Amino acid sequence: MGFEFKSVEPMPGVAPSSWLSSHWQFKNALKTLSSFESFFTLQAAEREAFAGLNKVFQVRVTPYYAALASREDSHDPIRKILMPRVEELHSGLQQMQDPLGENAHRPEARIIHRYPDRCLFLVTDFCSVYCRYCTRKHFTGKNQSFVNNSDYKSALKYIGQNPAIKEVILSGGDPLTLSDEKLEQVLFDLRNIKHIEIIRVGSRMPVVAPMRVTQELAKMLRKYKPVFFMTHFNHPKEITKESAESVEMLVDHGVPVMNQMVLLNGINNHEAIVQALSRRLLYLRAKPYYMFQCDPSMGTDHLRTSVEDSLKIQKNLWGRLSGLAMPTLSLDIPGGGGKVSLSPEFLLNQTSGERTFKGWDGVINSYKDPEAEKIVKPSDTEDYMQEWLQIKNARYGKDVLKNNFEAK
Ligand code: SF4
Repeated sequence: MGFEFKSVEPMPGVAPSSWLSSHWQFKNALKTLSSFESFFTLQAAEREAFAGLNKVFQVRVTPYYAALASREDSHDPIRKILMPRVEELHSGLQQMQDPLGENAHRPEARIIHRYPDRCLFLVTDFCSVYCRYCTRKHFTGKNQSFVNNSDYKSALKYIGQNPAIKEVILSGGDPLTLSDEKLEQVLFDLRNIKHIEIIRVGSRMPVVAPMRVTQELAKMLRKYKPVFFMTHFNHPKEITKESAESVEMLVDHGVPVMNQMVLLNGINNHEAIVQALSRRLLYLRAKPYYMFQCDPSMGTDHLRTSVEDSLKIQKNLWGRLSGLAMPTLSLDIPGGGGKVSLSPEFLLNQTSGERTFKGWDGVINSYKDPEAEKIVKPSDTEDYMQEWLQIKNARYGKDVLKNNFEAK
């Protein structure tokens, strides 16, 4: 039977033609205490947050996304994602300016190169909604907007000089805050670099302003294939008729859509919510890809949940949710240690060559390895060795910081 998704009603007094225009949505973003008060009934902890906001992270929300949230209930999940709270200004157990240690892996102003075969290209710092849990507060929302000409050229040069980079992830900020023309120029320039195989576009636009995803945009992305669209739904309430159409528009035009969610305290940290989100996304042909532990970025202690809580959620979903619908639970080691996957413990016992597991439904059995001397290397390994060694031996991250990057 599938799912049906509801349309989001325009705010009172807004014509449907304006409501469905992304320009109108960006221009009429809620940014100030008074604009928030004109729509929401604010609690003291929300109102007080506006006074110190410049210290932590600016506020901006599209009217479309604001209309998904409760006007009265401060516990509403969407409201918790978009609404600043005074807790953001308090110190917490672990709060870091740059939780992923990105600045230590930033050989160019707009490049983060943390893994050998891929890098982030921060094309803008601007987002149409500033999510309160954002991990990149050290860069995002600092009014730098589109990358300037000289940083842009340096970024392309860097990517061009590193043949081990096979994938470029356009990020920021939200790359879809750029015009189609600007975005196309970036894709065109990247496609002119011979060793780039995959381009990813990371954007929360299908969630917060789905009208930004048009047929023209989808066609343009397809022109530069393979382009993967990485979006970021966190809660089933975010899947509306409009957001569903935007995801399907991309997929119908041959642009695969993957979703990265973040587990957030009091917002989606329950298996019932994760399964509801994942099954709806899969129905739209968006693959639930990652389920991230929230990074300890500044002002996020009240939004983070424990690793134990996350593992419990994942264990409860295991076996009950199809592999296609199951996102990988992952955590970034604070300070720049990279990603680690977290998975529930199924191993009961291990001896040399034999491991005993207890499965999700209680079945216990052992897996015995074949005899070690019977394990052989594939005969055609050498055919692929050169391309593997290019990635394996690539210099990246700290090695390529501007001052000691010898190839320049
Ligand atoms: S859209 Fe992404 S980069 Fe922008 S504020 Fe939200 S999480 Fe941060």
